[in-house]
Order: sequence, then C-alpha cells, then structure tokens
Amino acid sequence: AMNDGSVDVARPSTTRSTDFDAIVVGAGISGMFMLYRLLELGLTTRVFEAGSDIGGTWYWNRYPGARFDSESWTYGYSFSKELLQEWDWKEHFSPQPDTLAYLNHVADKFDLRRDMQFRSRVKSATWDEANTAWIVTLEDGSRATATFLFTAMGVLSTPTLPKIPGRESFAGQAYHPGLWPHTPVDFTGKRVGIIGTGATAIQAIPEIAKTARQLTVFQRRPNWAAPLHNAKISKAEMEEIKSRYDEIYAHCRTTATSFIHNADPRATFDVSPQEREAFWEKLYAEPGFGIWVGNFRDSYIDEKANAELSAFVADKIRGRVNNRKVAELLIPKDHGFGTRRVPLESGYFEAYNRHNVLLVDVIKDQSIECITRNGVKTTKQEYEFDILIYATGFDGVTGAVDRIDFRGADGVRLKDVWAEGEPRTFLGMLAERFPNLLMVLGPHTARGNVPHGIEHCVEWHTGLVRFMLEHGYKRVEPKPDHVAEWTRTVLKVSEPLLAQKVDSWQTGVNRNVDGRLVRRVLGYNGHAVTYRKTTDDVAKGGYREISFR
Ligand code: NAP
Repeated sequence: AMNDGSVDVARPSTTRSTDFDAIVVGAGISGMFMLYRLLELGLTTRVFEAGSDIGGTWYWNRYPGARFDSESWTYGYSFSKELLQEWDWKEHFSPQPDTLAYLNHVADKFDLRRDMQFRSRVKSATWDEANTAWIVTLEDGSRATATFLFTAMGVLSTPTLPKIPGRESFAGQAYHPGLWPHTPVDFTGKRVGIIGTGATAIQAIPEIAKTARQLTVFQRRPNWAAPLHNAKISKAEMEEIKSRYDEIYAHCRTTATSFIHNADPRATFDVSPQEREAFWEKLYAEPGFGIWVGNFRDSYIDEKANAELSAFVADKIRGRVNNRKVAELLIPKDHGFGTRRVPLESGYFEAYNRHNVLLVDVIKDQSIECITRNGVKTTKQEYEFDILIYATGFDGVTGAVDRIDFRGADGVRLKDVWAEGEPRTFLGMLAERFPNLLMVLGPHTARGNVPHGIEHCVEWHTGLVRFMLEHGYKRVEPKPDHVAEWTRTVLKVSEPLLAQKVDSWQTGVNRNVDGRLVRRVLGYNGHAVTYRKTTDDVAKGGYREISFR
C-alpha cells in the first residue's frame, strides 16, 4: 500500500507489468503536488528530478536578489488548509531561501521524498504501444516503465548561455543565475560583469552592486521594469492574512491572471489625462503587479493606450536615474510597457547612480565580439572581470520538452511534431499521438500566477486519472479534431495582443538557441476563468474530446 489516503477505485491492473503506475518528471511545485495527488489515488509513483533535492525553479535560481513578484500569500499551495495555516510568510514578496524553505516544509509534511529519485535527469521517453506503457531512460542509462508519464518540468527550466565565442577561455568564475552554486558567491572587492537585463538581472544587479568593487552591465535591449515595493510581514499581519485565506484565494480565482490584481474595467481614453496620471501614480506606488495587470483594460491591445502608459513609465525612469544619457539607454524604445513580462525591481534604476556601476550598451554603441581570458571584448575595448554572470535567460516553455527525446505512437518525435510552429495540445495538457503523456503546466495552458495554474492542471489530471481508474481504461489520447480546435482557440485569443508582436521567451524567441527566431504562441493568453471553465467542462461532460481504451 502506497499511502493511507487512497480512494476506492480499481487499480489500473492487478498484475502490473510496469515498474510504476506513474512517472513524474520534475520535483518542483508541479511535480510535488502531482505526486501527492497520485499517491492519494493509490498509484505507485516515481519522480525523477535532475537536481539533488526538491524545489525546481526555487532550487536552481539561488542568485542574489531572487524573490517572488507574486504576493507570497497568494503563491503557496491552496490544497491544504492546514498547510496554509501553519506557514508564516516573512515578506510580502518572499526571497528565494524562504520559498525553498517553504517547499521543503511541504515535502517533509507530506513525506514526498520517499517516492523521488534525485540527480536523475530524464534523457528519453518512448511509448510502448504493445504494453501500453512509457519507457523512461535516464542519463545514466537506467530505465523505468510506467503506464502514465507526467511532465512537471516548468516553463523556465532550460537555461541558455549566450552564443558568444570564447566562453571557455575565461579564467575567472562564470555563472548562469539558473544554475547558481549552493554556496553563496562573494562579490566583495571583485570586478563583476553581467550580460543581460531581463527580470533575473534586474533583481541581481542592485544586490551585487552593494558589495562588488565594480559592476559592469552589458545591455542589449532594455526591459521595462516597475517597483516591487516589498515589505516585511509582521506577526499580526500574517494572522490577519491567515484569517482571510479563503477570501484571498477565491478572489484570485476571479482575476484574469490569478494574481490579486485585475484589469481596470475602464479604457485608457475613457478618463481625462489628469485622472489617468493619478491612476498610474497610484499603481506605480503600490506593491506588486498592479501597474502591469491592474491597469486600464486596453493597455496591451491598443497601441495608443500603450504608448501613453509607456511614456508615463519612461518619465519615472528619467526621474530615478541621475545621468540623462544612462536613463535614455534604460528606456525601451522597441516595445511598449507590459508587452514583455514586466520585471519588478527593488532599487534597480538607482543602482546606476552608484559610482561602481557601469552600463554598457551593446546594441547601438558597440557589440560584444568575444569572451576572453580576462573578460569581455567588445568592438570598442576589453573589459576585465573576476566574475562573469550570464543572465541570458531560458529556452522558454518548449525548451524542457525538447531536451528529452519523447517518442510517441509509431516512434514520432514530439520535437518534430511541434517544430513546425506552435505546440499542438489539447488544453495544454495532452498531446495527440502521445498517449498517456500528461503535462502539468504544459504549453498552451493558462499560467499567470504560476502555482494557481499548476494546481488547476494537477487537479484536472487527477480527475482524468480517477475517471480512467473507475472505467478500467489504460490508454488516453486526445481526439485530433479537438487538438486542432484548442490550438486554433489559443492562437485566436493571442491575436489582439501587442505582446505577440514582440520577441521574448513568451513568444518563443531566443537568439542563443538554433531555430528559435520565429515567434510562436506558447501559452493560453485568455482569461484564467475561461480556461478553468473550458477545462472543467470537458471533465463534467465525461471527456468526450478524448479517446480511451
Ligand atoms: P530574459 O528575460 O529572457 O532576459 C535575458 C537577457 O539576456 C535579455 O536582456 C537578453 O537581451 C540578454 N541576452 C541574451 N543573450 C545575449 C547575448 N548574446 N548578448 C547580450 N545580451 C544577451 O531572461 P531572465 O531575466 O532570466 O527572465 C526570464 C523570465 O524568468 C522572466 O521573464 C520571468 O518570467 C522569470 N523570472 C521571474 C522572476 C520572479 O518571479 N521574480 C525573477 C526572474 C525571472 P535581448 O532582450 O536583447 O535578447
């Protein structure tokens, strides 16, 4: 018996021919909760995790300054009231060590590590039609089989290094924030270079600047960023939050992106310029994503509205950066505010007012030629460093999928099927010709405030598996028509968005990865309530869009 909470359903087969009923790839927020539910269903489950412990994103990203930009008290799992009540968040936007401590608490509380195998990167997964099973091979060559294969790999788990020649010749220490060492890096007295100015760098730069002798930032394209306004949570405040958890989570279930913030029903030009300005001032002064997702409803679909908002935020940057030339360099000109995922910052712009921080524009003024033994050589000069940080991002959404050789029915490769353009899924959770492959937070799901998206996917898969157990089904595959229809829906919903006209990880563009130059739609960009209703309706309707055997 796997656990005490098993429900009263028939096991998939009494004479099990596979090693496990289910294999889960990844022990982050998705994999941990998926495992919990599978154990409840009574399925023998094994989680394979590449890292040496649980935590996923919060295990890998230990760089200085790493923290939430979702309100902490909306980020925790909501499936256990007891868990919500016993955990005290210390800050409104939790720093990475506290978040990892929280996830460790969850793993301990529910005894999740027992069914996990660490330092185990999955290399390939092959569908075995004759046995209705997945054969999973790890990098060390070992194999395991299971009826169900769950992917719980996150959307930003494949770090990418810059395609710059000479990287191996650098004699100092070099790091990617998504592969940060477990022992803290000491910047005291060091000359530090950082390449990239995405959300990661925007969190790291002000922190590193505090101790480094010299910090040089190589910026290709600037990103818009807005203040996080983090604060500590007092004991009394935490008690008050705990008393309102039902209400808080219920509210998040009504918003478009599952954050507490929701778009203002007014359009930008419905109100006078004075009123607009006052509203933006208020949002800019408030903690969290209000300035992004709590803005006028047309902010990211109407070019003129977006230009007004961008001009407001640009002025804020000008007001915070002393050097006018530097301020102008930090203001994006090639895309509007909020059309890429907005980093929330704590003193990012002020960091450039420090004497030890230098901004190097590597798009107009000069470009990076190569990495040398000593540092970075641009078309203008060589910059020498002790430490070099490649904050160059991730192969978003499909990167983790591509790393594994998934072979479905008739040996078809998932990578090839999706290479043509958009991923093709049913609800972002199932793929045609890949029977029994169940994706948690796969491409074309609604993400937003990520744990909410994850919990929904896990619950939906749990319902699906329970349905199969109840009916004695062993094989599940979405019907082609419904995959086509879902893919059309996802594309259609994205059409009006300005974000879809901008290169970013969200549109699948990454110049450091071959074949990643064409924009794709990689998420369900509609309202989260619509997504949940659509997916719940499939379940309520008895899964008519899906074939079972
Ligand atoms: P990113 O947003 O993709 O930024 C990568 C940066 O590296 C960009 O500025 C990019 O410039 C630059 N770059 C890449 N290759 C380069 C090259 N060869 N030469 C010079 N510059 C190069 O990646 P990220 O900052 O890691 O953030 C990714 C996502 O992770 C975020 O959007 C967010 O969703 C998530 N994140 C969340 C948090 C949080 O919750 N608090 C924190 C960090 C990250 P170009 O724009 O010109 O390509």
